[in-house]
Amino acid sequence: MIFRLILLTAVVFAVLWLLKRLFSEGTEASTEAKLKTENMRQCKFCGTHVPESLLVLSNDQPYCCQDHADRDQS
Ligand SMILES: [Zn+2]
Repeated sequence: MIFRLILLTAVVFAVLWLLKRLFSEGTEASTEAKLKTENMRQCKFCGTHVPESLLVLSNDQPYCCQDHADRDQS
């Protein structure tokens, strides 16, 4: 009887540990996804959304390409 109780407790702990592991893995994955998601900026000329790393800044204004930056200035 005591053996069964110990076994049951062990199973419950194992399940809880597995659930916790799965949950923390899920959180890690979503944090990673958040880090991978870049801020999007809108081109002042054509309105296209561009990731900040591809953005062309001209006079502190965001553009999708150098062409649109030049065209907006003239
Ligand atoms: Zn543009």
